Amino acid sequence: AGTTMAGSETAGTMPAGITPMVLAEDVHRSFGRNHVLRGVSLRVDPGEVLCLIGPSGSGKTTVLRCMNHLEKIDAGRLWIDGDLVGYREHGGKLHELREREVSKRRAEIGMVFQRFNLFAHKTALENIMEAPLRVRREKRSEVEERARALLDRVGLGHRCEAYPSQLSGGQQQRVAIARALAMRPKLMLFDEPTSALDPELVGEVLAIMRQLATEGMTMVVVTHEMGFAREAADTVVFMDGGVVVETGPPDQVLVNPRHDRTKSFLSKVL
Ligand code: ADP
Repeated sequence: AGTTMAGSETAGTMPAGITPMVLAEDVHRSFGRNHVLRGVSLRVDPGEVLCLIGPSGSGKTTVLRCMNHLEKIDAGRLWIDGDLVGYREHGGKLHELREREVSKRRAEIGMVFQRFNLFAHKTALENIMEAPLRVRREKRSEVEERARALLDRVGLGHRCEAYPSQLSGGQQQRVAIARALAMRPKLMLFDEPTSALDPELVGEVLAIMRQLATEGMTMVVVTHEMGFAREAADTVVFMDGGVVVETGPPDQVLVNPRHDRTKSFLSKVL
């Protein structure tokens, strides 16, 4: 695992062993005086599903956004697939990637938001083809073939020509997942992908996510769906107040939590 930042060879050296897809060490982030991430450390190995749970405002979304270079970190170290994304030496200067590097890396990570953010004036198929065509400049015929296969995979092979407004929220979210997959991401980030959906539509989206997990996709999922976390997660991370309070397999964190804060949170959501 190499780093790409000049001068970072020592400070940015990753611990030995298999290369984690995500490794965060003591990551901090503030918005003005609001110290939102107060030393977050976590690790996601390739093929692993990590579910991030915790009360609203605990910093879950900010952690995801740092992984996808939508937020910078103020301190600590963050590696994505072995590449040091940003760090600050003790009391020193912040090292960060150049804008062009950031765009390249962002294209390797799929992100699915609470709101589907599909292009309203494009069909399902066109939505999926957009990034591979524009960002990667891939061949149209190949992109289209892949897009059709992806729509099939999310159970929407028959809705290629539909516009977002003609699709249910659950269908739109499945298109959004297919759109993210069209870039062949090495990591998929989900930010409460079902919380804007009517309850009867949640299941179809979770089913696609479970399928992805089974196929070996590396995923970080911010969710309030404890059933999903219980079944699909390899690791559950409970955050509160900008720190990781508890990490472990779902049966431990969700069933036999060690910390009072975890217990108290679970008693409210389960
Ligand atoms: P969670 O996902 O756990 O609900 P967030 O990461 O969304 O938590 O937010 C944590 C805190 O950070 C909140 O207090 C929120 O208001 C603040 N915050 C998040 N993003 C920004 C931003 N871009 N500017 C200012 N404050 C922000």
